[in-house]
Amino acid sequence: SAKKSGKSQFRFYDRAFYAHLLERLEVERSLRLAIELDQFEMFYQPRVDMVSGRVCGLEALIRWHHPNNGLVNPVEFIGIAEETGLIKGLGKQVMEKVCAQIANWSSQHNFEVPVSINVSPQQFHDGSVHEFLTACLTRFHVPPRLVEIEVTESSMMGEESMVTREMESLQALGVKLLVDDFGTGYSSLAQLQRLDMDGLKIDRAFTSELGRTREGEVFVAAIVTMAHALGMRVVAEGVETEEQMAILKRLHCDEAQGYLVSRPVPATEIPALVSLAAG
Ligand code: C2E
Ligand code: MG
Ligand code: MG
Ligand code: MG
Repeated sequence: SAKKSGKSQFRFYDRAFYAHLLERLEVERSLRLAIELDQFEMFYQPRVDMVSGRVCGLEALIRWHHPNNGLVNPVEFIGIAEETGLIKGLGKQVMEKVCAQIANWSSQHNFEVPVSINVSPQQFHDGSVHEFLTACLTRFHVPPRLVEIEVTESSMMGEESMVTREMESLQALGVKLLVDDFGTGYSSLAQLQRLDMDGLKIDRAFTSELGRTREGEVFVAAIVTMAHALGMRVVAEGVETEEQMAILKRLHCDEAQGYLVSRPVPATEIPALVSLAAG
């Protein structure tokens, strides 16, 4: 009977796995179509300077206008796009959209704020990020200083020469590099220094601990000290309360991003937000 239950357990696992596989295949199929039909829109979330209170940057965050499911957040599809390689095509659409938007804000609203783009580790593997971004910047007449790239710690792992070369080419172009979700991965001090990162974004898991546990504050203080010693700016992600903002100010964090300032919004809402914060 041990053998029998073992077998049925296997069947159960098999069926669950099959359902999971079908679901992923379905998402992959509709994602492929969505890329062809261009069903994506970039939302933008401001980042403010802690000292002046001004908007000093924007993060571009992708949204999918799904024909049946409405507006879909990236957690639902970025993982699958990465696993299937679809992220490469999607990532190119993102770079195009962001550069076109920067050009539009600059010409229609006369403002220039750097915009950061999230780039998945898989996008670096064929070595085309630098080349494609350069083409977009040229096509839309966007100066490289208005674009920043956010990479996760996993992109910086190891000595992978392609990734290193891509990052160095981007920096040589004048594009700043930010480490995203800092504290959740395994990057070492040596990697931060070797890749000469311009800034790091403290993951919101740590921000949410501020004011709740002593450890949260100790951790953020240590990151800020280390980052500043390495010449990097520090952005706190996921700032939701005035209390967190006050603690971050006291700890000399440079910039804040989160629902307290604004949620990610469509591009059309950005000019009002920027002038409001500036005035
Ligand atoms: P991320 O780069 O760490 O982006 C920050 C996420 O935190 C965003 O989720 C943002 O909406 C959310 N957030 C911002 N402030 C707060 C806050 O105060 N509280 C809470 N609870 N959340 C906050 P979103 O837009 O759903 O994006 C999720 C992830 O998807 C991003 O995490 C990024 O890793 C990925 N992603 C988004 N857009 C792109 C893209 O264009 N390309 C690639 N490769 N990945 C993307
Ligand atoms: Mg990010
Ligand atoms: Mg992040
Ligand atoms: Mg994240």
